[in-house]
Amino acid sequence: MDYEAVIGLETHVQLKTQSKMWCACPNAFGSDPNTNVCPVCLGLPGVLPVANEEAMRLTVLTGFLLNCSIPRFAKFDRKNYFYPDSPKNYQVTQYDRPSTQGGWLEFEFAGGLSRVRITRAHLEEDVGKNNHFDRHSGVDFNRAGVPLLEIVSEPDITSADMAYEYLNALKDVLMRAGISDCDMEKGMVRCDVNVSVRPIGTTALGAKIEIKNMNSFSGVRRALEYEIPRQIAAVKRGETLRQETRRWDDEGGITETMRSKEDAHDYRYFPEPDLMPFEPTDAWLAEVRARVPELPLQRKQRLMRDFSLPAGDAQVLTDNLELGRYFESAATGYKNPKAVANWVINNLAARLSESGTPIDSISLKPASVRELAELVDSGRISSKIAQDVFAECWTSGASPAAVVESKGLAQVSDTGAIETLADQVIAANPGPASDFKAGKVAALNFLKGQLMKLSKGKANPGLAGEVLERKLRA
Ligand code: ADP
Ligand code: MG
Ligand code: ZN
Repeated sequence: MDYEAVIGLETHVQLKTQSKMWCACPNAFGSDPNTNVCPVCLGLPGVLPVANEEAMRLTVLTGFLLNCSIPRFAKFDRKNYFYPDSPKNYQVTQYDRPSTQGGWLEFEFAGGLSRVRITRAHLEEDVGKNNHFDRHSGVDFNRAGVPLLEIVSEPDITSADMAYEYLNALKDVLMRAGISDCDMEKGMVRCDVNVSVRPIGTTALGAKIEIKNMNSFSGVRRALEYEIPRQIAAVKRGETLRQETRRWDDEGGITETMRSKEDAHDYRYFPEPDLMPFEPTDAWLAEVRARVPELPLQRKQRLMRDFSLPAGDAQVLTDNLELGRYFESAATGYKNPKAVANWVINNLAARLSESGTPIDSISLKPASVRELAELVDSGRISSKIAQDVFAECWTSGASPAAVVESKGLAQVSDTGAIETLADQVIAANPGPASDFKAGKVAALNFLKGQLMKLSKGKANPGLAGEVLERKLRA
């Protein structure tokens, strides 16, 4: 019997807000321990939380981006447990009435599009961080109370690679919309991986095994690459897998049991009495909806459709948004957008990276790149000359047409002028000329090269070849 993997991910993302979720302490990484704290985020008696409105907006914005519905009633609940990094002994979260639910994320995978359903994205708060030293441990509460979004997927993921692509696509969306910086090094994205296996062709879910607290996407992929075959081998041996929580040992490259279902917490959730339910109005929702940006996949598909670009070009102009905007400004309405894309992706990107200049302060304007493409496409200059014109325009900011004019770079397409050059080249190279006449076709390329050189690159290469050939065959 063959088995397949069933995977669902719970992704925790720190929201990009100025302050924490319930107090005015800064939401900042890297400060000295316990400097961004106050009675509220330290859970001292008698304090009252005040919800951070921007965090609510970012949560609902995420809901829009993930095609979720936004209930008109949501609330906060206490999840009770004791752990040293959780100063209140409970975490405020959204239990049965979350702010967003029932959506999906679409992303490119295995040469096509995949869709993973989103169960919900709910708002909660981060905990502090335990630090272990030689002889003692310490808790840093700077992170306690930082707004944290938990994005729960349906078990629609079927492989380690697909989990990896889902996470990257999710990150791209969240970063593009300014919801989170998603800096993995700073622990801004963490993930719990749920995985089971079942015989192919069946629909019942197998025992859910959860790998907790993964902090890199490649770690998630490696953990699944280990865990899926482990489970399949176990069921093939006749073992019955039981629901449990496992930990990923990154150095050893294995997962190991942490706790079984029997020691699962009873969190005794109850509604948070210190916070009002969250009931967004039409006006508030409209304000959030206005912040929905064009998402990376939509953008890539639009560039391919509207500008007939190949997928690779569209990807570059999506990943580098500023370069993409420059391209759009140059290519909109032009008949050969691919030519413009070539200039932007090859020449312009190289100049930008070697000079380190930000794109909005360069002197070469998008209209000039388009003009350059037009000069080549209309046969006014050769593509070789165009390279020199580009260099000149990059430095001086002059318009390509003006450079061509002032330096006399226009391509010579006048047959009379090219005939004169052809006569000179044939006279100066009797050897290759007679080789060609004797049937050595390659000699024509040499003569053509000589003609181009004599014209300083300005002769129309097609015409040069034709005129030479006609004269040699005469
Ligand atoms: P819990 O209540 O224990 O958190 P949930 O039902 O909320 O469990 O599911 C948590 C995550 O686990 C979700 O992402 C879900 O898609 C996934 N999941 C649930 N059951 C399974 C299963 N049998 N195999 C793989 N993933 C699962
Ligand atoms: Mg859960
Ligand atoms: Zn505080």
